[in-house]
Amino acid sequence: MQDLNALRELICELGRRAYKREMGAANDGNISVLLDDGTLLCTPSGVSKGFMTPDMICHVDRAGRLLAGHRYKPSSEMGMHLCVYDHRDDVRAVVHAHPLYATVHAICGKPLTAQIMPESTMFLGEVPLTPYGQPSSPELAASITPYLARHDALLLENHGALTYGHDLMSAYFKMEALDYYAKVVYLAAGYGGAKEFNAEQIEKLLDVRRRHFNQPGRHPFID
Ligand code: 13P
Ligand code: ZN
Repeated sequence: MQDLNALRELICELGRRAYKREMGAANDGNISVLLDDGTLLCTPSGVSKGFMTPDMICHVDRAGRLLAGHRYKPSSEMGMHLCVYDHRDDVRAVVHAHPLYATVHAICGKPLTAQIMPESTMFLGEVPLTPYGQPSSPELAASITPYLARHDALLLENHGALTYGHDLMSAYFKMEALDYYAKVVYLAAGYGGAKEFNAEQIEKLLDVRRRHFNQPGRHPFID
């Protein structure tokens, strides 16, 4: 039996953490969790995710419709979240944010492809840039679909980022990892440029992931 109150608390805690870490300004970003019975919890629309209380978290059905009377509307990006769950049976949580450095990459049209740090190579690999889709539109959901099978982290062109995983913490930590990677790439570019791993070093890191971490989820370099 899932503890819905604990999940509501955790969504609020991650919202506060994301807001403090400059993963969005004002009311940016949203979080959802798919529950065992097929319904979902999600963040309310148009409120700061840094100041949520558990009573503000929405409970919606698999089509994103509010289940019980509620004074908040579900996130306007539920279409994008539901698209992820539709295409990935293993995913139980989705995080959308506008993290500062990841968003700079998304706005400058730069996917994250350089292999420069063990953690980003092992846990993210490359982070592609998905074509622009208007926020909260079916077009945005369609624009991410081709990337869902191979990636757990995406840059959304001229918008922000999207991560997902087998639980809330894993989906959220991929967002932190993505933004840290984007920040290092950005800072290294102004400091003479990052030294990239060679093919052998990358292969060895993927082996560490396979043998030691055995992470659920997908990786673009691993079938
Ligand atoms: P919501 O507040 O409706 O979730 O929207 C925030 C956002 O980031 C839209 O892309
Ligand atoms: Zn957004």
